[in-house]
Amino acid sequence: MAASSRKSGKRADQPKTCKRSDKNFRALIENSFDVIVLQNERGDILYASPSITRILGYTPDELVGVNGSHVVHPADKRYSIETFNRLLVEPDTQLAACFRVRHKDGSWRVVEGVWKNLLDNPDINAVVINLHDITEHQQVIQAHKQLVEQLEAERTLLREILRQMPSGVVVADASTGNIILSNERVKELIHSDILPVQAGQYTQGTTYHLDGSPIQAYEWSLLRAMQGEVAQNEERLYIRKDGTQCYFNINATPIRDKNGNIIAALVSFYDITLRKELDKRKDEFITLASHELKTPLTSLKGFTYLLTRHLRQQNDQNALYFLLRMDSQINKLTRLVNDLLDVSRLQTGKMLYRKEVFALHELVKEIVENVQGTTQTHSLIVEPLPAAHIEADRDRIGQVLVNLLSNAIKYSPLANKVTVRMAIDGDYVTVSVQDFGPGIAPEHHQQIFERFYQVSPTTQHNYPGLGIGLYISNQIIKEHQGKLWLESEPGQGATFHFSLPALHEKNVLDKNR
Ligand code: ADP
Repeated sequence: MAASSRKSGKRADQPKTCKRSDKNFRALIENSFDVIVLQNERGDILYASPSITRILGYTPDELVGVNGSHVVHPADKRYSIETFNRLLVEPDTQLAACFRVRHKDGSWRVVEGVWKNLLDNPDINAVVINLHDITEHQQVIQAHKQLVEQLEAERTLLREILRQMPSGVVVADASTGNIILSNERVKELIHSDILPVQAGQYTQGTTYHLDGSPIQAYEWSLLRAMQGEVAQNEERLYIRKDGTQCYFNINATPIRDKNGNIIAALVSFYDITLRKELDKRKDEFITLASHELKTPLTSLKGFTYLLTRHLRQQNDQNALYFLLRMDSQINKLTRLVNDLLDVSRLQTGKMLYRKEVFALHELVKEIVENVQGTTQTHSLIVEPLPAAHIEADRDRIGQVLVNLLSNAIKYSPLANKVTVRMAIDGDYVTVSVQDFGPGIAPEHHQQIFERFYQVSPTTQHNYPGLGIGLYISNQIIKEHQGKLWLESEPGQGATFHFSLPALHEKNVLDKNR
């Protein structure tokens, strides 16, 4: 700490002025909050005012005769001695310094002192030190410094995390729409700067839905997050200003203050172009492979039919038994290939629906009977079915039902029943399939409807399947303006529901006319 010099001015003469009233002067010093210490030219303490006890814990009497440097912190000792010596050679100087002194209890206090050499003053004949305890002040400064350092370290950490992240991150102020934070990755991903939201558009490129329709301003995830909406895993096609294109996976969320008010919106996005390309190639392969498999399977089915007839004529029961098993395997394979073909039809938007008006309760009954014929382990219990008509592709809705029932049986090997219900609620009719198997944990409820998603790999449980049945079912139901969902808790079984717009009696008659 640098020592500073000040003009001595009138204060040096104060003892003289007060000489007339020595008693008053002493009272003033002894009641002062600051400490007055007098030292001789060797630094020995000649006098210490009573408030020294507050700083050092010693009474003035305990200190008289002690060399001042004894209570100074070892690290500050040299500096305090130098200050003192300087004062001796420059008698007119007044020096200020800050150093640590040891309290009687062993703790350290920080004091600020002003030294004045009055050795030549016959009335005083001492070096006068005015000490002021600044420990607490110092502690506050220290705590503040630590806080600033901590904040700075956290900010550096955050900046570094943001810089290293593979995702682009953008935070916008909810009230102004201004971008208050974004990382370098954003620029690398969109090949341009991010713009304030109120500029009408916050990137210079154009964003599209995966079906190619442009994203409208109100659909921007950042704007929606500012209004409190959370966007999860939204996939978008982005065409940059320079014409290059890529696919992004986007997540957005509002940021709220402690009162729950939205103060900002955070968007993060990453490049999924490579994954999309691989998906596309996978889809092309699936389409090709399933088409290639379809023809020989059809021939196999035909030959099996002819062979069955032939063996029946010959009454070869043994061969017929094996042929029947072969036929059932061919049917299984055909269903699989058909599912794969459906997936590629759905992907390319080439799925055709032949919609007609029909009685859903009759279809439910029919499908349940068919599926019941394929299982000996489970009873399919149908609760009384209300009459309901819908306008839909009968085969496709039947396919959904077959899939839900087959899953209910397949994934509840230790149960022996599956319950089917149907209910009409306002303009919608809902069909529910309940099983009593192990159920499905909530974290899978959304993804279960994605292509090729399986809760646990089939190899683990030996359940045949590719994870496409629910994807196809969901797409079919969506195509009919309906909804497919599930309710399940692990260990409590699972209930899959689908609801579809129901036709009113009058409309059924009109449509059938
Ligand atoms: P998969 O051909 O694998 O059955 P799905 O798309 O029909 O394909 O089902 C996806 C996954 O959902 C299944 O692999 C299975 O893990 C889970 N699942 C479907 N239905 C049920 C159910 N009723 N109970 C438990 N898990 C189920």
